Amino acid sequence: MSIAEAIKTEILFGGLKKTCCRLAFLSGAIRGAGSLTISCGVGFVIECTSEKLIEKFAEIIQEDTALSEGIEVIGAGSAKKQSGKAVFVLKVEGAPATEALKNAGILSPQGELTNGIPNLVKQSACCAGAFSAGLFCASGSLFLKDGEANSGGYFLELSVADDTVRNDFSECLKQNGIILKSRAESPRRLYAKGFETIADFVQYIGAQKAFFELQDLFLLRSAKNEAQRQSNCDTGNLARAIDASTKQLVAINLISKRMKGGLQALPKDLYILAKTRLENPESSSKEIVELSNTALTKSGFNHRMRRLIEIGESLKS
Ligand SMILES: [Zn+2]
Repeated sequence: MSIAEAIKTEILFGGLKKTCCRLAFLSGAIRGAGSLTISCGVGFVIECTSEKLIEKFAEIIQEDTALSEGIEVIGAGSAKKQSGKAVFVLKVEGAPATEALKNAGILSPQGELTNGIPNLVKQSACCAGAFSAGLFCASGSLFLKDGEANSGGYFLELSVADDTVRNDFSECLKQNGIILKSRAESPRRLYAKGFETIADFVQYIGAQKAFFELQDLFLLRSAKNEAQRQSNCDTGNLARAIDASTKQLVAINLISKRMKGGLQALPKDLYILAKTRLENPESSSKEIVELSNTALTKSGFNHRMRRLIEIGESLKS
C-alpha cells in the first residue's frame, strides 16, 4: 500500500468520529472530486484507484442521506485506466446527491450552489481538518522518492478546481502554519515538497498513524544521509592524503636524483622526514611523524614537507 493510500484508509476507516466532521469530510471530498453537475440534474462523481476506498465513500453517503437509490459504484471492469491503474468511480445522482450536497453545505437549503468552504466548517477546528481530509482523499497524492531526507524526497499534491474553495482552503491551512504552493501554469494544483509541511498536513487531516510512520521514515533517511555524508568525507580525506603523499614523493625523488649530494645534503630534520616518507609511501602524515621519531606537530610536519616540495620544485628545470 502506498503512503497516500495508507493515509486515506486511516481516515476513512478510523477517523471521522463526529457527525459534524463526517459532513465536513464529505464536503471536502466532493469539492476535491472535481466534477459536480448541477445544470442537467444534480449529481457528482468521485474517482479513486482503490475499490475499498470508493466503497467506503459510498457507504458514508448512504448513511448520511439514508438513501441508496442513485448511488452507484462503477467497478474496475468498466472503469477507465489511469496511468495503468484501474479507476473506480462513484456516481451519485438525484435525491441522494441533492441531500448529500445540502448536508455538506455545497448547496444551500434552497438548492443553490454556495461559494467556498461553508462557514460552519471554516470556524470549527475539527471540521476544517475533516474538510481537508476529504479533499485529500478525493484528489490528493503523496509520493516518497527513495533515499532523500528532506527537500525533493517528498511530494504532496492536491487539486482544487474551484477558486473560492481553493483560497478558503489555503487560508485554513495557513492559519495552522501549513503553506501550500502552486505554479502559475497550473494554479489548481496545490503542492508541498518539504518534509515538515507534509508531516504537519498529514497530522492536520487526522492521519496520526501515517504521521508517525512519516516521522520514522524521515529519521531513518536522515541517519542514512549522515552516514553517506561521513563516508564521502572519508573518501575525500583519503584522496587528499594520497595526493599529498604523491607530491612529497615526487619532490623527494627529484632531490635524491638531482641535488648535489642527494638526500644526505639536506638539513638533518628534512633528511629524516624525506627518508621516512620514501620508505613509507602509503603512510599517513601522523604515521610518518611517529616513524621518524621527531615528535613534530601537524603544522611542523606540514611546514617541513612544504620546504621539501619547494626544494624539489627548484630542481625541476
Ligand atoms: Zn467537526
